[in-house]
Amino acid sequence: MNPRSERLHVGIIGGGIAGLALGIGLNYRHVSFTIYEAAPGLNAIGAGISLGPNTTRAMELIDPALREGYEKIAIKNRSPEKRHNFADFLLAEPGLGAARGFHGAAVGSKDFVRSGAHRKDLLEMMKSLLPGNDCIRFGFKAISVCQVGKKVQVSFEDGQVAEFDAVVGCDGGKGITRQAVLGHQFPDQVQLTYSGRYVYRGLVPPGKAQEILGKYADDSKIFIGQGRYFAAYPLSGGGFNFLGGRQKDEPWTHSHSTQEVSREDMRNDFDGCDPRLLELLEWAKPLRWGLFHHLSTPTYTHGRIVLLGDVAHASTPHQGAGAGQCFEDALILSHLLGQITDDQMIPAAMEVYDSICRPRAQEIVRTSNDTGLLYTMTHPQCADDVTKIVASARGRFQWIWTHDLQADLAKATEDLDRLRKPA
Ligand SMILES: Cc1cc2nc3c(=O)[nH]c(=O)nc-3n(C[C@H](O)[C@H](O)[C@H](O)COP(=O)(O)OP(=O)(O)OC[C@H]3O[C@@H](n4cnc5c(N)ncnc54)[C@H](O)[C@@H]3O)c2cc1C
Repeated sequence: MNPRSERLHVGIIGGGIAGLALGIGLNYRHVSFTIYEAAPGLNAIGAGISLGPNTTRAMELIDPALREGYEKIAIKNRSPEKRHNFADFLLAEPGLGAARGFHGAAVGSKDFVRSGAHRKDLLEMMKSLLPGNDCIRFGFKAISVCQVGKKVQVSFEDGQVAEFDAVVGCDGGKGITRQAVLGHQFPDQVQLTYSGRYVYRGLVPPGKAQEILGKYADDSKIFIGQGRYFAAYPLSGGGFNFLGGRQKDEPWTHSHSTQEVSREDMRNDFDGCDPRLLELLEWAKPLRWGLFHHLSTPTYTHGRIVLLGDVAHASTPHQGAGAGQCFEDALILSHLLGQITDDQMIPAAMEVYDSICRPRAQEIVRTSNDTGLLYTMTHPQCADDVTKIVASARGRFQWIWTHDLQADLAKATEDLDRLRKPA
């Protein structure tokens, strides 16, 4: 075992994609850690998740076994000629755009290969890469995190207290670690904010989507419309996953992030859309999922406590990039913590992590929100001009997919070395 593991023990709060990715990265770099997950087991809400090439590159660099494991469970676009397509854009109006002479436009790139996985498969595969069951503890809900001298204390709901050299909050958008990092300096930035959009989610059984959508059920599609949109993609085994999104300039006044409504209210939200999309909608639950985000996070770190994943930068799902950022964060932070030989360097390593990951992740939160405006034809520069919408989408995705992670790693090492040297 590498001697560094005895010098540093990291507590990870949350065993979702972010916590598991960090655990895999730390394990690969021989840094000792324990993940504490509030739920009794892996918590896989939602059906599928799509991941871009920046994510698969991050996986490879976190631990080649992670990329290998992912490739075994990954679902690609069905038609080989569409492997570089993120989605075909169509219109949600009756005829899907044909009345305007618009027959769809591909948004993708030669740098992009469409892939995704079932969340459950992804989490299970990731858990299988952790070194034994001791490093992940289920049923441990953290209730407070605070730095005491050179240690960080975490108190759990059952009264237990654990102490670490550093704590990484991977506890999702509403995570308590956000309060520990931002509460003193930026109290008004702790809570999630509502994006002005909500979605209904649906799963269509094998064969049914083909019956409803015909040729449009082949691969990923985004149907854009005035104030509403649908995003749909096939799952392995022939099923179909979709979201119906609605933009309304009204505040979210419900105490939970979901709101049950009647089927009629749900249908009314998509009044005037193509009948095929309305038929698809019948497979959704009449449950509105409010889309919330952390549009502004002034810092990801406070001393020896740091934020990673959605607790740092929860995003709307319009670019399918939120989980990708979890992997990028996990890569950079595990790389930095893996280079620490003196625990005094922990706050400096966290500052370096913040300076590399935060600008990009926060820009992704911003552009994702902006992409929601494109999908709902409410973007100030593009409105309902389909040519402009497609051009804008192509540009923003390319920036996400082609990010140079090796350059980030080199900069992380260089910045940490600079801070390590006495002035
Ligand atoms: C509808 C929708 C579709 C999406 N689609 C995509 C997509 O296609 N591609 C993509 O890249 N991203 C997508 N995302 C975003 C992606 O799902 C998230 O970015 C990602 O799952 C965040 O992972 P996380 O581990 O940071 O947070 P979470 O998944 O929220 O995990 C946090 C974990 O911490 C645990 N926890 C919370 N509090 C505590 C506590 N106090 N103590 C201990 N444990 C705690 C929770 O139980 C949970 O297991 C989508 C999001 C939504 C809402």
